[in-house]
This record gives sequence, structure tokens and C-alpha cells, in this order.
Amino acid sequence: MSYDADVGIVGGGPAGTAAAITAAGSGMRVRLYERASFPRNLPGETLHPGVGVLLAALGVDVRVTAASAYRHAGVFVDWGGNRSVQPFGQDEQGPWLGYQILRRDLDRILMDRALELGVDIRQPVGPVRVRVEDGRVVGLREPAGETRYRFLIDASGRAGFLRRGLALPSQVASPPLRVAYGYRAGDPDALRETPTLVGDASGWAWMAQVAPGLVHWTRLAFDGSKVEGPPRALADLPPIGPTKGADVSWNRVVAAAGAGYFIAGDAAMVLDPVASNGTLRALLSGMRAARSIEAVRVGAVPEARATGNYDRWLADWFDHNVRQLDSLYRELRPVHSPYFHQGESLA
Ligand SMILES: Cc1cc2nc3c(=O)[nH]c(=O)nc-3n(C[C@H](O)[C@H](O)[C@H](O)COP(=O)(O)OP(=O)(O)OC[C@H]3O[C@@H](n4cnc5c(N)ncnc54)[C@H](O)[C@@H]3O)c2cc1C
Repeated sequence: MSYDADVGIVGGGPAGTAAAITAAGSGMRVRLYERASFPRNLPGETLHPGVGVLLAALGVDVRVTAASAYRHAGVFVDWGGNRSVQPFGQDEQGPWLGYQILRRDLDRILMDRALELGVDIRQPVGPVRVRVEDGRVVGLREPAGETRYRFLIDASGRAGFLRRGLALPSQVASPPLRVAYGYRAGDPDALRETPTLVGDASGWAWMAQVAPGLVHWTRLAFDGSKVEGPPRALADLPPIGPTKGADVSWNRVVAAAGAGYFIAGDAAMVLDPVASNGTLRALLSGMRAARSIEAVRVGAVPEARATGNYDRWLADWFDHNVRQLDSLYRELRPVHSPYFHQGESLA
């Protein structure tokens, strides 16, 4: 059987590029499709310190550190009136520091690294379709013709390339949750010190200084009402760009891996940003998908075991986060909300 590459990857965000770098680093031929032209802005700029070890494994830790405007040791949280700075943690070398980096910079650094390792990057590429033969994902149908891969990794984020293409079922574990987010110009002192999360019975707001002169905000209303603008603390700062929205209902694809495919990052599961590990999840799942493929390729693990283990790993991660978010939201006691009911688990 001849293949256009060992691995085809759809999506060039953190999940897709982490998968590409890992697969190319272990000697596989990789082709990556990204439909958007870069640079482009996306949310996901406050990175948990846990990404540090992943960035090092990908060979980009020095570049990401240099491009990070701020490194915070924790987050200021006002959750139902309980106020504290919640540190990320520390070890003998000192406090663990998160990263504050614009997505356009993170995406460029990861794409550059993939290019250095010989990944064949097709960008911007129009619509591609999945090819399935005898129940197995075998490749892509694209405007230029048909291609064939040993494995396909879907890292298309919320677009859910394989979820739609294979009509895979989803597990939804929350009521519909929609955030509004946007940017303001300014440098509020408090935000330069730490990003801030404020929650009460009506919803929550997240604010972070993502670069000098640039503040990101995200808000969610528990009653589903439309959020028109930023939290009051930022209302006087001039807006940069429009307010946008995103569906952040907690959901995961059932069967995140199967015959010929793996699904990584937001394409596999979405949690709301209070979980604060979306980019970490994207990087780690992309890397793990690529390592699983390598293990199958060299005959160390049968494919069915590799895909089953990967799917279970993501399902466990999802359940753990859902339980954590559920108990966090219960602390706010949003008794007026039609969504969150005391004593009734959302999980
Ligand atoms: C408002 C908001 C705030 C957030 N804040 C944070 C935060 O502070 N920290 C954090 O860690 N996480 C945050 N997140 C979550 C984080 O943004 C995501 O978890 C992360 O971007 C997921 O990375 P990914 O690579 O899976 O997907 P994405 O980053 O969405 O990348 C997917 C890529 O696939 C491409 N693509 C899609 N379809 C196709 C196709 N058919 N062909 C080719 N290419 C395709 C897209 O163009 C895109 O570049 C936030 C999310 C939201 C909504």
C-alpha cells in the first residue's frame, strides 16, 4: 500500500502542530492541512504552567518563554465573595509560572517548529473531506485530488471535522453554555499582577492582560442571557475589535479514536474556559495521538488497543474535569438559574 504520508493532520492549532512535531520527530512523514491564513487571532492566551514540560518536549519552550509578555504565579479568584490569589504551585526551583502569549505568536512558533522538522504544511487549504473504506478512515478528498494516510489526526478544533464527517455521537455533560469575549485597550495595574476570575450567582467573568496595552475578557451568564459587553471593571477602556461568542457546553466525542484515526484537542472535547487547561489539553492530546500512532507503526501495540486506550484516557480526563467544574459551580449556588440545580449533578 502506498501512502502520501504516514500521518495526515487536519488543523494547525496547538493540537495539530503538537501532533505534527511529535510524529515528525519520531521519523514519520507528516502532512498538515490548515484552512486559515496566519497570523490570526484566537482566544487561549493564558497557559497553565503545566504546558512548560510539553513545550520543552516539542522544542519550543525557549521561544514561547521569549514571546510571553507576562509570567504569572497564580490567578486572583473572587468566587462568590471568597477572595484569594490561588497560586499554581511551586517546587525547589520556585513558584510555577503560567504563560501569557498571543495565539498568533504561539501558532507561529509551533508551525515554524513543524516546518523545521520537515512537516509538509498545506495552508490555506479549502474544504477537505474524509475518505472511509470498509469502515476504516484511509485519507482525504481535497480539491487537488485524493490522498491516503496510515492514520488521520483530526485537530480541527470546534469545527469537528471527523465528528461531522463520520457522524460520531457526542456526550454532552452541561446545559447549553455560551461565552462572550473580547478585547480592550489598557493596562490595569491589578491585571498585570495576576489574571482575575470573578464569579457570583449570575455567572462569571475572566480578565487577563495578554500583552502590553491589551486586555482579554470572557463572560458567561448562567441564565443564558446575552452578554453585551465586558465586566464593569473594564467598561471604561476602549474596545479593540467586536465582541465575539463561543459555545462552551461541556462535550466530548464518543470514540475519540478508531480504525485509522485519532481526534485531539477541542475536536475531541470542549470544556468551558474556567477549566483553564484547553491549550494544555490540545498539546498533550496531539502529542499522545502521535505517540500512539508511532507505537502501532513499529508494532509495539495493536491498533485496537492503542485507539481504545486513547479514547479511555480522554473520557477519564473529561469526567474528572466535569466533576471539578460541577462542584465549582455549586459553590456559587445559582438558585435563580434554570440550568444549575442544587443537589442534581450535571455530570
Ligand atoms: C473565550 C475563550 C477563552 C479561552 N481561553 C483560554 C485560555 O486562556 N487558556 C487556555 O488554555 N485555553 C483557553 N481556551 C480554550 C482554547 O482556546 C482551546 O482549547 C484551544 O485553542 C484548542 O486548540 P486546538 O488546536 O484543539 O483547536 P484550535 O486552536 O481551534 O485550532 C483548530 C485549527 O483547525 C483549523 N481547521 C478547522 N477545520 C479545518 C479544516 N476542515 N481543514 C483545515 N483546517 C481546519 C482551524 O482553522 C484552526 O486553526 C479558551 C476558549 C475560549 C472559547
